[in-house]
Amino acid sequence: MKVLLKAPAKINLSLDVLHKRPDGYHEVEMIMTTIDLADRIELTLLSEDTIKITSQNRFVPDDQRNLAYQAAKLLKDKFQVKEGVQINIEKTIPVAAGLAGGSSDAAATLRGLNKLWKLGLTMDELAVLGAEIGSDVSFCVYGGTALATGRGEKIEHLPAPPSCWIVLAKPLIGVSTADIYRRLQLNGVSHPNTAGMIESIHQQDFAGVCKNVGNVLEDVTLNVYPEVAQIKEQMYRFGADAVLMSGSGPTVFALVQHDSRMHRLYNGLRGFCDQVFAVRMLGERHTLD
Ligand code: ATP
Repeated sequence: MKVLLKAPAKINLSLDVLHKRPDGYHEVEMIMTTIDLADRIELTLLSEDTIKITSQNRFVPDDQRNLAYQAAKLLKDKFQVKEGVQINIEKTIPVAAGLAGGSSDAAATLRGLNKLWKLGLTMDELAVLGAEIGSDVSFCVYGGTALATGRGEKIEHLPAPPSCWIVLAKPLIGVSTADIYRRLQLNGVSHPNTAGMIESIHQQDFAGVCKNVGNVLEDVTLNVYPEVAQIKEQMYRFGADAVLMSGSGPTVFALVQHDSRMHRLYNGLRGFCDQVFAVRMLGERHTLD
């Protein structure tokens, strides 16, 4: 028996860090939305009690370091599952890019194993379990668009933002999220207007969304990797309506409403950048089917 799932990437329309908590995590406010750039996860039931991971991408770990492996192990231990699984990850989402690829693979594995191993868990229960694997996994269990608070695991669903193209560009560097958070100095940073972004989404106000994009980690990453700033400049030059770094980077995305500008941006950036994608947002949340 097999289950096939799409594990979509997310972008942060806004990312704010409020303070560092006594437990070492940062208290965040993030507006995240899933986009039509996805890994494909294939789960095959195994009769023996093992978890196997394969992927065509050599940057994806094939052992317990893989977040999808950790998702399977968590369910196996919690619910004393005696069957095993072979997890194949067909990777499309750039790795260590600020797009939550690993978290989304883990979330899809939770949804898929719930079915394959007949666990009968709800989406909310899967999201709570996801938080044990990583702060972005809870959001990735649901997908769609949401405000994530706490350390990222408290999810309030939002409507889909106004429709537009998203052009993503990733330079040939990988960024460690932990390293960027370590470098973040909260004194004097300008915080994004999270409430303004939520209001703009509710109003379906594209100009408002563009005005309110913001990421408190952007300047930190820009200082370490000047190529990220260069991509931002290029995107503005090619006519982007808004430009922002996603997560801790290095992927930068542009919001663009018109098809012709999307083509100009996409073609212009391809000569300049390692990986470039033009995609739409995924409005729908995942469901248990
Ligand atoms: P985030 O936006 O949540 O910070 P990211 O997009 O920056 O995540 P990932 O692509 O999830 O980063 O990968 C970060 C690291 O996690 C990689 O260097 C890789 O070694 C490890 N990893 C674990 N599981 C996976 C997976 N399924 N896919 C990709 N990387 C994974």
